[in-house]
Amino acid sequence: MANLLIKNCLMADGQSSDILIKNGIIKDISKNISATDTPKIDANHHFVTPPFVDSHFHMDATLSYGLPRVNESGTLLEGIALWGELKPKLTVDAIKDRARRFCKWAIARGTLAIRSHVDVSGDNLLGVEALIDIREEMKEFIDIQLVAFPQDGLLRANCLENLVSALDMGVDVVGGIPHFERTMADGAESIKILCEIAEKRGLLVDLHCDETDDPISRHVETLAYETLRLGLNGRVAGSHLTSMHSFDNYYFTKLISLLVEADLHIIANPLINITIQGRQDAYPKRRGLTRIPEQINAGLKVAFGHDCVMDPWYPLGSHDMLEVAHMALHCCHLTGVEQMRSCYESVTTKAAEILHLEKYGIYPGAKGDLVILQCKDPIEALRLKPARLFVIRKGKIISSTPPVEYKLFMGETIEKEDLLFKNSS
Ligand SMILES: [Zn+2]
Repeated sequence: MANLLIKNCLMADGQSSDILIKNGIIKDISKNISATDTPKIDANHHFVTPPFVDSHFHMDATLSYGLPRVNESGTLLEGIALWGELKPKLTVDAIKDRARRFCKWAIARGTLAIRSHVDVSGDNLLGVEALIDIREEMKEFIDIQLVAFPQDGLLRANCLENLVSALDMGVDVVGGIPHFERTMADGAESIKILCEIAEKRGLLVDLHCDETDDPISRHVETLAYETLRLGLNGRVAGSHLTSMHSFDNYYFTKLISLLVEADLHIIANPLINITIQGRQDAYPKRRGLTRIPEQINAGLKVAFGHDCVMDPWYPLGSHDMLEVAHMALHCCHLTGVEQMRSCYESVTTKAAEILHLEKYGIYPGAKGDLVILQCKDPIEALRLKPARLFVIRKGKIISSTPPVEYKLFMGETIEKEDLLFKNSS
């Protein structure tokens, strides 16, 4: 819990302001604050943003790329099979080492909250044990929310008992994977069981749902129905929802009002699903992302997750949430000004709302968690994926990087360029 005065912050509305953090909480936002007894930094008229929030990740698998081999086909199913080969070889220490390293990458990129699924299928709960330790170890620096995720299928792999044990151990959210159960009926049954567990325990729900190109994979409908039946409105998220891309349009127009009625939250994973979906298509190949523009227009809360960094499903990534939003913007034709701003919110404020994070944002009384980016606004942040000049947690600087400056040796003198756009009207 530290004190910090940040001078010359460029706020989201384009105005300049100072921000004073006292005992880890934002105390004042106004011009010309002076606090002689407080450590001070200068944002130098760069954009100050609430930290990035990753609403969907797998921290038990991260940074395991190449163990024991790489995913040659690039498919979801080979990824799941590969994870099955790696799992018996995992140790608590190895999972913790990788997760710890990964958290440092995330923090350096300005992400200070992550919802991570953790696999609860199999003979043991090593992943749960490891990530509960990491959640505690890292809590001073980053908020980690864990989801009990039956990767091999709740009913198919008979892992209901493990899922309940994981929740008893302190895992925060109920997960599932209905489209991977053996039949549509089992998928629907798993949703009913999982939502009832969440309702009894007062927990949030976040299911991997309909992550397939199959246009008749409609588990999202059951998820919304169970949400309404149990009064879980606003507490349930559907992750991926890629089959929605291929739904019949008439069916979709009926479905969307059910999703609105249930206040179902949407979590898309653009980096992963643009690479995984459409693999069995001839040309033209479907993009396969869920219907993000229509969901935003309907007023649903839509967040974007990174999902994977260097694991059995995805060979790339450095945990940059701006890369995630950038991909969604391109794949979903979201190039209007308000649409681009909305993409930025999907990795900040909307994600924070879906995770039910408290005191998130930039206002007096909010937690003093801020990131200073080397740019002027959210749209330029998406364009440049700029340097995170300072990452601040409860008033303490926990990461910094110098401004990027390119030197050009093209004439008599050395020119400097920072790629920032200056309108010369
Ligand atoms: Zn996932």
